[in-house]
Parts: sequence; C-alpha cells; structure tokens
Amino acid sequence: MTETPALGPRYRAPARVPSAPRLISPAGAGQVNRTRLLQILYDVGPTSRAQLARISRVTKTTIGAIVQPMIDDGILVEGEPQQSSSQGGKPARPIWFSPVDRPTVAVHLLPGTVRAALVSLTGSVITESSANFEATELDHDVIIDCVTSCIQDVLPSDGGAVLGVGVAVGGIVNTDEGRIVEVNLAPGLAGLELGPLLSRRLGLPVHLDHHPRVQALGDRWFGSGRRASSFASIYCGEAIGVGLVIDGAVHRGVAGAGGEVGHTIVDLGGTVCRCGRTGCWETIASHRWLQAEAAIAGLPAADALTVGPLARLAGDDHAGAEELFDRFARNVAIGIINLQQILAPGLFILHGDVVQGGEELRERVQKYVLDGIPVHAGGAPAITFASADDDITLLGAAALVLSQSLDLLT
Ligand SMILES: [Zn+2]
Repeated sequence: MTETPALGPRYRAPARVPSAPRLISPAGAGQVNRTRLLQILYDVGPTSRAQLARISRVTKTTIGAIVQPMIDDGILVEGEPQQSSSQGGKPARPIWFSPVDRPTVAVHLLPGTVRAALVSLTGSVITESSANFEATELDHDVIIDCVTSCIQDVLPSDGGAVLGVGVAVGGIVNTDEGRIVEVNLAPGLAGLELGPLLSRRLGLPVHLDHHPRVQALGDRWFGSGRRASSFASIYCGEAIGVGLVIDGAVHRGVAGAGGEVGHTIVDLGGTVCRCGRTGCWETIASHRWLQAEAAIAGLPAADALTVGPLARLAGDDHAGAEELFDRFARNVAIGIINLQQILAPGLFILHGDVVQGGEELRERVQKYVLDGIPVHAGGAPAITFASADDDITLLGAAALVLSQSLDLLT
C-alpha cells in the first residue's frame, strides 16, 4: 500500500480549475487549500462558511476544517450574524481577518537595498523602513545586521507580536532551506542562509521566496491578478524574472528553482550574459542591453539610460530613439511569446522599469506578442503594466507569511 504523499509547496492542483479558486477535498491539502481560501476572502470580502463552500465547491465541513484553526489562532474572526436568507435558516456569520491580530513583516531584498514594512492582515502597509548596503559586500554578518536592523525599525513599538517575516529576494533562492543561491548583481549574497539566520536573530518564523513569485502572490491577492486563475507576473528592469500562477497556485518548481525566465536562451549567437551563459533573454531586454544599444545609437546619457527617458526621447523624435524603443518592445515580447507558447497563462502583468514606457510601450509589446503566436480558441493573451509605485511585492511578502506560516496550525 502506498502512503498518501505530503502536500507541500511542490503540490499543484489538478489541471481543470474554474475561475474561482477551487479547494481540494478531502481535507489535508493544508497550505494549498488555505492559500486558496484566503484568496477567496481577499477577492470577495467578508464571507460566510456557506458562501465559501458554494464558491469553492466543497462542503461546509471542509471549509470548517480549514478556517477553524485560523479562527482559533485569532487570524480570522466571525462577524455579527447577518440577516438569514428568504428561505430562513440559521443567520450566517461572515468570516474576515481580525483587525487586531498580529501583523506580518514584509521584506524586499535587492542588491544593495533592503525595504521592510509592517503589514496588517487586511493588506495595509502600517509602517515602512529601508536601508542600503554595498552590493559588493561579501561579509554575511554585515548584510544580516543591515536586514535585521531594517526589520527592527518596523516592528510594533509596543512590543506587540507579529505573525512572521516574509522576504522577497531578487535572486535565485532555495525555498526549502531558506537560502540565497545566487544573485548576479550582488555576489556577496550567494550562499547566505537568510531564512535561518534572520529567524534566529528575530525569534520569528521567516519565509523567503524569489522576488517575482512574491510579486505574483501580491498581484493575485491585492493587484491586477485578483480573480485570475492563471497569469504571469513579470519583473523587467535591471534583471528579468517571472512568477507564475497556474490554476490558482504559485508555481515554484523543486525547492524554488523556477522563475529564472531572464536566463532562458533566446539567441544562441548572442552576447554573454551576467550569468555566464550566452544569449539569455536578459541580454536583449534589460537595462544593460538598452544602455549598450543607446551608446551605439549616440543617445544622450546612454550609460545610465532607462526605459522612461528612452520613451521621452522617442516621443520627441530624437534620432535613433524611436528605433531603439521599438526594438526594446520586440525584445520584451520575445520572452512573453515563449511563456505563452509553453504555458498559455493568458495574462501578463509587467512590473519594474519597463512600465515607465507607458501605454505606447505596452501597445507595442502587445502587438509583437500577438504577431508571434498562433490564433487560438483560448483567446489572445493580454499585456498589462502594473502601477509604477505600488507596494505589490511587499504585500506579496505579507501574503507569503499568511499562506505558509499557517502550516503550524494544521
Ligand atoms: Zn543569463
């Protein structure tokens, strides 16, 4: 007789899932079920057990088994009984997040910069802090000191408890071990056991994940990916990465190895990438490419050029800028076409410096994507740009804590 496999982060739902996140029955699917139930709550607001059961197409008993530990722990609360339906019956009590329960700490670690925020369970940023360290810093203690101090700045001043810490890392991570594997732009972060070390310093549970995946979770719970069962959340700026939500669940790959779409090879005869390989998507659609091409085209301040200034130069008909702007749009589209051909997420939410290209860039990327894929009954993919100043990654890091740390309750 074979044992029922443990349902951890590697578990993915069956392929056919309706637009509402469907729960997995019978009980025992732990984190996946809880994540989806929390998604439904964020999607539709305070909701009764009966409504939750209807939306997710499982029994009220299954819903009870998922929400009760979270009610017992004080994360969810039951509101006042609402008027019963016209058929009569017991008045329903809406379930929602406790306004007074422990907030979470959300952290975004980038090469040379760390941002931390205290986030309420309802998804509001209560307070924020940031700090810098040398991107070339090799001493792990110095980096941990900087991150710890930044987190301590946002902890409740009254010493109140927090639920845990979620960290979005702009680099390759091992989510099973809480370790940073490699960050091309900050070599000193390689091998840093950030999760265990921070947890020891702070006395709190710490969960870390690849930045674009955390961004995807933020999009799903609080941003343009709300209610979408599948989409790709792309970060495109000084580097490129993707977080994939497939059938309602964030896809990590084994130990969090997935998401390095910036290093999928698109040009075998291309230039050498920072990762040491040749012709990665990043070599033709990140800042580095843009600045090298701007220098060749003789554009002003080429070595610091980013997408916003390029869009303005193109809008002003500056010689060479329009042609470069268009090639950039085509190059961004190439990676999106590949993702659509393989997984057909259907919706692409772009973040990072690319959004500074505005509607003109979005339209061009969309056009090149449509040119590059066959017409299919599944519909044409949509390209959207996130707001330039959103807190989606920090909110996603808070969502990471909610979806993962609650495993302790099962
Ligand atoms: Zn590469």
